[in-house]
Amino acid sequence: MNKGKILSKLPSVDELLNDKKIINLLEEVPRNVVVNEIRNNLEKYRKKILSMDEGSLDKFKIDIDKIISYIIDSSDKFMQMNLREVVNGMGTVLHTNLGRALLSETIREQVWSVAGGYSTLEIDISTGKRGIRYSHVVELIKFITKAEDVLVVNNNAAAVMLVLSTMAKGKEVIVSRGELVEIGGSFRVPDVMEQSGTKLVSVGTTNKTHLWDYENAINENTAALLRVHTSNYRILGFTDSVDLKDLVELGKKNGIPVIEDIGSGVLIDLQKYGLMYEPTVQESIAAGIDVVTFSGDKLLGGPQAGIIVGKKCYIEKMKKNQLTRAFRIDKLTMVALEATLRLYLDEEKAIKAIPTLRMLTESSDSISKRAKTLYDMIVSRKLDLDIGISNDYSEVGGGALPLEKLPTHAITIKAKNISSSQLEDRLRKYSTPIFTRVNDDRVIIDLRTVKEEQYGIIVQALVETVGEQ
Ligand SMILES: *Cc1c(COP(=O)(O)O)cnc(C)c1O
Repeated sequence: MNKGKILSKLPSVDELLNDKKIINLLEEVPRNVVVNEIRNNLEKYRKKILSMDEGSLDKFKIDIDKIISYIIDSSDKFMQMNLREVVNGMGTVLHTNLGRALLSETIREQVWSVAGGYSTLEIDISTGKRGIRYSHVVELIKFITKAEDVLVVNNNAAAVMLVLSTMAKGKEVIVSRGELVEIGGSFRVPDVMEQSGTKLVSVGTTNKTHLWDYENAINENTAALLRVHTSNYRILGFTDSVDLKDLVELGKKNGIPVIEDIGSGVLIDLQKYGLMYEPTVQESIAAGIDVVTFSGDKLLGGPQAGIIVGKKCYIEKMKKNQLTRAFRIDKLTMVALEATLRLYLDEEKAIKAIPTLRMLTESSDSISKRAKTLYDMIVSRKLDLDIGISNDYSEVGGGALPLEKLPTHAITIKAKNISSSQLEDRLRKYSTPIFTRVNDDRVIIDLRTVKEEQYGIIVQALVETVGEQ
């Protein structure tokens, strides 16, 4: 049969629109979307026919039911939200690709009331005149960190760029070679410095930098000394870096400000809760660092933001920089940040209410109990699975506490009818995507990052992907 003849047998858009199943689909999906999907699918089918060789063409029959089921699937897919909640069974608490920090349930109302209503975003209630967007968190952050002044921008990368551009444009900034880091998502210290118009002067070596390395590099063009926290890696062994206090002392002696990109904005000493040491913002301010920048959505546990704290004279200058307008945060960020910071006024409350801190500090016993609950729920469905509970380790992620291994408990699954990588794939493609790890040919679900209300989703996904016995 020739191709033209087969093509002429393809149904028309109108014919398909009159099909019973498509009429049903139109109850849920807008007509223009369905028409578009009909056209797309017919076009695909046409291309497929055109690419066939004579042999397969002879045996080929147009399958209308199949075309219709493709149209229904692709229309449903088009209507589904792309950006939606997933189940994180990987145990990485701050997973950049899965959205880093989770906002606290306790701030849901505050966030929604500002998102869905007019707000005090940029208005001064006492005068009725224009106010300042950042003002909502200034006193809070000053209170928590003891810094003189505060500015908030889009993310920490923007914060570093703004600080350098304001304080050192056209001049030299001295950085240790051990701190020329790259953070996930292509934040590279040398590139950020170049973009901000400052000249990088690197000193010392990868593993050792001494105070005199900085001292020898200082000249009349030096605008600042920059310290960058090596958030996502550690150099171990024969290493040396300069103490914050000594660096501040050196800066003072030479009349040069010291800037620190501290990465994750830790506001609580996490060692008290059994985690490894991670420098806090308060320590840097207390040590006399002039300007400190950090992220809002790493260990702080808030929305994506870049927070700049430090001496008023520098922050005032930054507010006048045009970049501040370009890096401006929106009201959703501001309300989520303010509400999250308010939780820090009571440290115990913060640990319980901020999901990032709660997940990081959850005891192994508590996770073990939760694993048992999910295990029992899965077992009760009598699925064709080999299922167990094993001891494992979770990671902090998000370029924070890179050496921390948090003891945890995980459900391990081996399906009998499909391979573990197939099961991992199917769970990820489930209507609520479930992200798992595969280890030793078993699918691993680490309970540390799984919410209780998601257990049912996991069970249902397993029922649908491997089926009941
Ligand atoms: C994460 C990180 C950044 C980038 O912060 P974003 O908020 O993702 O822009 C910059 N510097 C350090 C040291 C970091 O850890």
